[in-house]
Amino acid sequence: MKFISAMLGMSAAAAFSMVLAPAMAQTYPERNITMVIPFSAGGPTDTVARLVAESMSKDLGQQIIVENVGGAGGTLGAGRVAQADPDGYTILLHHIGMATSATLYRKLAYDTLNAFEYVGLVTDVPMTIVARKDFEPADLKGLVEYVKANKDTVTVANAGIGAASHLCGMMFMSAVETPLTTVPYKGTGPAMTDLLGGQVDIMCDQTTNTTKQIQGGTIKAYAVTSPARLDVLPDVPTAIEGGLADFQVGIWHGVYAPKGTPAEATERLSKSLQVALKDPNVIARFAELGTVPSPESDATPAALKAKLESEIARWKTVIEAAGQYAD
Ligand code: ASP
Repeated sequence: MKFISAMLGMSAAAAFSMVLAPAMAQTYPERNITMVIPFSAGGPTDTVARLVAESMSKDLGQQIIVENVGGAGGTLGAGRVAQADPDGYTILLHHIGMATSATLYRKLAYDTLNAFEYVGLVTDVPMTIVARKDFEPADLKGLVEYVKANKDTVTVANAGIGAASHLCGMMFMSAVETPLTTVPYKGTGPAMTDLLGGQVDIMCDQTTNTTKQIQGGTIKAYAVTSPARLDVLPDVPTAIEGGLADFQVGIWHGVYAPKGTPAEATERLSKSLQVALKDPNVIARFAELGTVPSPESDATPAALKAKLESEIARWKTVIEAAGQYAD
């Protein structure tokens, strides 16, 4: 194999995939596929993943089994996939944290841009700024005043450094120029449980975790981070409307495979992802949760690679300017 790689001037993994290509194209997938989610079960990334995995499983004729590997802001799960066999049977669904953690963690167990193959983009989910039901402030303006006056007691839940909730929480603290106490979890599924129980005060999290709770009145919503209000949450103002200038963030999600996974597998997975994103059930469930599938043209390896590269560059500038790292 080394000889073939040297001859062709390519990596052993790439040469391996070429040698196996014809056989694999016809047979993949022959067994269940594990999709690692780098956060706890029941959270927003998990919810997106399970909906997409269910639909992709039908198209692939094999089950995609979701495995939750939470911890360290998503870097443990991503690391697990980076080290998995590149055979098409272990994949990762991760979000914007894949890009932010590349700079936030100066000692990451994998090289983000070189450890993965790309399948495609999935969806771009708005965030919401929410609080426990009985939290005093009535609106975003009141929240800003309250946290400034009570900065030593207010607690902010997140899913660890590098998580979307961490990023959005940092944006909030920076916008209001007030550092607050953060409480990390392995995902915002368990963080939501504590928010509902009143053990933490506020959280910034994807609509895929908060919409039902906001609609049910079990938590309080102050803002959505989308450019316009959402159909499913018409009474919740945008953060910009509420007075936080430029406060906009979307949590994009992508599907990856370990470096060296044969192109035939990633291409088959891409096609299946495109089918899932057009599945009426996925579209309807996403809509109920305040999001939409990525366009078919973005559910491709090239689009995800370009997105990851540009997002790593974008957040590197922001994080380096802030000088805040995970280690
Ligand atoms: N919403 C979480 C985050 O902050 C992740 C999760 O639990 O899905 O990144």
